[in-house]
Amino acid sequence: MPGALHSLLLTLVAALDVALALSLSPRNTTVQSTQQLLSAYQLLNFTVGGRLASAVPLEKPCFSSYEGKPVAANSAACAAVQANYTDPTFRVTQFGAYMLPQWETCQAQASNGCLLDSNDPTNPLAFQGADCRLGNIPPHYIKVKSASDVQAALAFSRSTGIRLSVKNKGHDYKGRSSGKDTLSLWTTGLNSISHNAKFKPTGCQATYDAITVGPGVLTQDVYEFADSVNRTVIGGYHQTIGFGGGYFLGGGHSILSPVYGLAVDRVVQVKVVTPDGVLRTANACQNSDLFFALRGGGGSTFGVVIESSHRTEPRITIQASVLRFTPSASDDLAEWYSLMVNQSHGWAQAGWGGHIVGPTLVHVNPLLNHTAAQASMKPAVDFVTARNGSVVVEELPSWLAFFNKYVTMAQAAVGPELELGTRLIPTSVFTSEAGRAALIALIKENLPIASPYIVAGTPFNFKAETNATSVTPAWRNSVWHLSIKAQFEYNTTLAERKTLYNGLETRLQKFRDLTPGSGAYFNEGDVYEPDHETSYWGANYPKLLAVKRKYDPEGLLDCWQCVGWKGASDPLYQCYVSL
Ligand SMILES: Cc1cc2nc3c(=O)[nH]c(=O)nc-3n(C[C@H](O)[C@H](O)[C@H](O)COP(=O)(O)OP(=O)(O)OC[C@H]3O[C@@H](n4cnc5c(N)ncnc54)[C@H](O)[C@@H]3O)c2cc1C
Repeated sequence: MPGALHSLLLTLVAALDVALALSLSPRNTTVQSTQQLLSAYQLLNFTVGGRLASAVPLEKPCFSSYEGKPVAANSAACAAVQANYTDPTFRVTQFGAYMLPQWETCQAQASNGCLLDSNDPTNPLAFQGADCRLGNIPPHYIKVKSASDVQAALAFSRSTGIRLSVKNKGHDYKGRSSGKDTLSLWTTGLNSISHNAKFKPTGCQATYDAITVGPGVLTQDVYEFADSVNRTVIGGYHQTIGFGGGYFLGGGHSILSPVYGLAVDRVVQVKVVTPDGVLRTANACQNSDLFFALRGGGGSTFGVVIESSHRTEPRITIQASVLRFTPSASDDLAEWYSLMVNQSHGWAQAGWGGHIVGPTLVHVNPLLNHTAAQASMKPAVDFVTARNGSVVVEELPSWLAFFNKYVTMAQAAVGPELELGTRLIPTSVFTSEAGRAALIALIKENLPIASPYIVAGTPFNFKAETNATSVTPAWRNSVWHLSIKAQFEYNTTLAERKTLYNGLETRLQKFRDLTPGSGAYFNEGDVYEPDHETSYWGANYPKLLAVKRKYDPEGLLDCWQCVGWKGASDPLYQCYVSL
């Protein structure tokens, strides 16, 4: 569309402001206002080049009733959904699907969703004779192709009062990328990627070897692209996370973080449409307050990211340790976790990072040679060998080689309705005998329910620039990011959901009590994290709030437990359970 015509249309959308604000509220659906709203949507669709679409739940083809009305099920389409229900590379292509499907549903209501049974997606009890509902999925979305699409949506929201949400790859554990009755900006189509060995952030002197991505590029694609230019990008433990979206905005841990830092330590420039409708370039030399906020402030609250640039490392040789055994004696697992607690501080000092879940450890080290890696892992290797487990300590030529061999087959599950609660476990816990004993005791308490998921992915050895990022400083002196979980099923009742959330909360509180003054990870925190401002940002919160007020004085972009959050009683959060 020619620039002048486009500007005119943006002005027209904004001009609806007066007319609509006077007579139209999205919750005041008189015939007249409905027509006006329809016209506003039509104008918006025209402005964004016909890329406004209506959403349907992924699972709808399996159902014979939709929103209370009979519909024809489509058995072929249903079979495709069933076959791929837990495949992230399938889910990520569908607007009406989220990695944690409970966020497709309106959890606060007894039955307002469209889920299959994630344990057996062909289970007819989930869909035969059941009504499929749109639930918490935004009814309309824009397939964003440019900053001007975002500007049009912001103007539309200001004019009509329709709230906005931002979805990229749909991995959010706290439901921040869905939202009942919202207009969603789906940024998955912003998927450019390029490499510049001398990338210079606008207005700065320094140059970096950097990769620039649109938010929609899959993490696995970033790894492959980086490898193809002999570089390494530090990123998450999953194929389909949006590397340049929610991942880095909330902090971004990697099992290489102990040596190379968090994603927020590595981003050097962000292009973002702020809620006031301006496309800004934020880096250390311009809009630096916004840049600080985008380095850990989290979610879409500071704007919609169009592109971001991230420092790379040369291709690195990786020592990988992959250990697994089948617990037989009743205290095998407890002993294993005790060993993990006792070894982890030393491993972090040696540059190891990785995951521990149940009787499985996957760790990598970019600093040690092979002999030193074997010596360092010996206590764990001996433990697993004594139980006839599987032991691999090997050298791999690159991060991509490690990722393809070990991560794609063993990454965190999607499809089941998982809830997490997390805590950063400080170094001080690991360096005192009493601290280790207390942590071991707490882990043991949780084992009968579910093995804690340990991410050894804090920036333990990384020398971060002072006050440059806005994540809680607790990241900087922790050894573990520990998570515990609860799980819903497709038919879990509202009362049961409350019980599960409350149970998770009670168990997590004990880890909070063990670690006073520490924090939690914004992207993987408890949905109902108490005092979330302190947990996610610590002393950085007042500065973040000031930045939020500067760029979003009207509070146009809001998300659950984000900076400047309007609170649980805001209508935007009608689908969250009140505990
Ligand atoms: C299976 C799985 C594995 C994971 N592994 C890791 C890991 O190894 N390391 C790690 O650190 N985290 C991990 N996470 C957490 C993950 O980093 C976060 O869920 C992250 O927010 C995902 O970003 P997304 O863009 O893919 O998700 P979305 O759900 O689409 O978005 C998440 C949040 O970011 C906002 N957002 C997305 N795109 C934009 C944009 N363009 N502009 C502004 N705001 C935007 C959304 O509004 C929402 O608030 C994992 C999550 C899952 C489900």
